[in-house]
Amino acid sequence: MLEIVRIPVLSDNYVWLAHEAESRETMVVDPAVADPVLAEANARGWQITQIWNTHWHPDHTGGNEAIKAATGCTITGPEAEQARIPTLDVMVKEGDTVALGPVVADVIDVPAHTAGHIAYHLPSEQAAFVGDTLFAMGCGRLFEGTAEQMYANMRKLEGLPDETKVYCAHEYTEANGRYAVTAEPDNQALAERMDQVLAMRAKGEATVPTTIGDERATNPFMRARSADELAARRAAKDAF
Ligand code: ZN
Ligand code: FE
Repeated sequence: MLEIVRIPVLSDNYVWLAHEAESRETMVVDPAVADPVLAEANARGWQITQIWNTHWHPDHTGGNEAIKAATGCTITGPEAEQARIPTLDVMVKEGDTVALGPVVADVIDVPAHTAGHIAYHLPSEQAAFVGDTLFAMGCGRLFEGTAEQMYANMRKLEGLPDETKVYCAHEYTEANGRYAVTAEPDNQALAERMDQVLAMRAKGEATVPTTIGDERATNPFMRARSADELAARRAAKDAF
């Protein structure tokens, strides 16, 4: 059973720190920066043993080098982006698994935001670390891939159990929701969720992790009925 801690850094990034008590292993997902992550681990008496990266963007890998220098941890990330993440020790792709003590993660290929983006699904924890592919009521921008790829990614992720907690890498929920309610104005679950999100954000509360079930009900990108509809919604959101 993992203990998972949210570390807000930069303007809207979330770094996730996960500790496995039996093995005493501690893992960081997508450290944008090093110092707040090392400080949080130290404060809890946890020794960071691993970093898992989802994609090469600097706001997901910027802390790799300094955390490794401070802890000697092992860095795992997407094989397809090894040239862009020179700090990687272990390269993985769909079909591979990564272990944190007894906890096993399945690697899922989710290219589109970047060409080699991966996600980590931990079935025993009912958790998934999805980087910048799936957000609360949103999806990542299509920087290095196509709407067809993102549509396929959404099929993979919506196939996870509804109760799966989705640990995304940014607090984009309010801005996503403001667009989402225009894409699906008749979606009552979406309207209710947006009311809740506005109330939470007004109090400065984090709105993630989300769940696969909530995204199936309210996410206009997961709910797009075709790659073309996803493309149109992505373009509309980019210009929103
Ligand atoms: Zn990114
Ligand atoms: Fe990012």
